[in-house]
Amino acid sequence: MSVIGELCFLPSWEPARARFPFFCPNLVRAFSLTRNASRCILWFGSYVVKIEWLISLSNRLKSEARFCERCGVALVARAVEGKDRPCCPACGFVAYLDPKVAAGVIVTLDGGVVLLKRNIEPGFGKWVFPGGYVDAGEPTEVAAVREAREEVGLEVEVEDLLGVLSIEAERVVLIAYAGRVIGGTLAGNFESQAVATFAPEDIPWDDLAFHTTKAALKIWACRHGAMP
Ligand SMILES: [Zn+2]
Repeated sequence: MSVIGELCFLPSWEPARARFPFFCPNLVRAFSLTRNASRCILWFGSYVVKIEWLISLSNRLKSEARFCERCGVALVARAVEGKDRPCCPACGFVAYLDPKVAAGVIVTLDGGVVLLKRNIEPGFGKWVFPGGYVDAGEPTEVAAVREAREEVGLEVEVEDLLGVLSIEAERVVLIAYAGRVIGGTLAGNFESQAVATFAPEDIPWDDLAFHTTKAALKIWACRHGAMP
């Protein structure tokens, strides 16, 4: 770079061109253009990054809450109690986002833990025990029984609460039960690629769908003396 810069101030290009035919004014101009272009790209790039950040923030808001439930005005992100939250610029309403409650049940069939391989996101292609979102007004253990019926075709009875599982920055709170099979036939639905039973020592620990899946299975394994 410095060699080309010095060549710019030569009284004539001819000696330089004679000695270094590859250094010519066009090359210098081309270099200058390239340098300016790269600066432009960097400058433009920094705005692209900022715009992308704004779009992602706006998408996050869109996916959660877009309009004020009191007055219908579009919500904007504002810092409230140390967090960016969707707020109404007109009436001041703050849309506090609630966690989603899911319930699941771990059962065994012929000595194996019943798991299904998810055919939907999130956790596509990963293993999980039957479970899903609790409907408003539905008792959580009823939801776990319903999910087992829907997802793996089994009628189950809830026996024990294994735990209420949640992790930082994850919106879903999982209430996990242990249960027993009282009927039905093991069969998946459109949400699963496969349903299978795993001997406790064969549970696919590294291929589980969610942190909470792993945590619940560990509690279950602990209680059944089957820790990996
Ligand atoms: Zn409002």
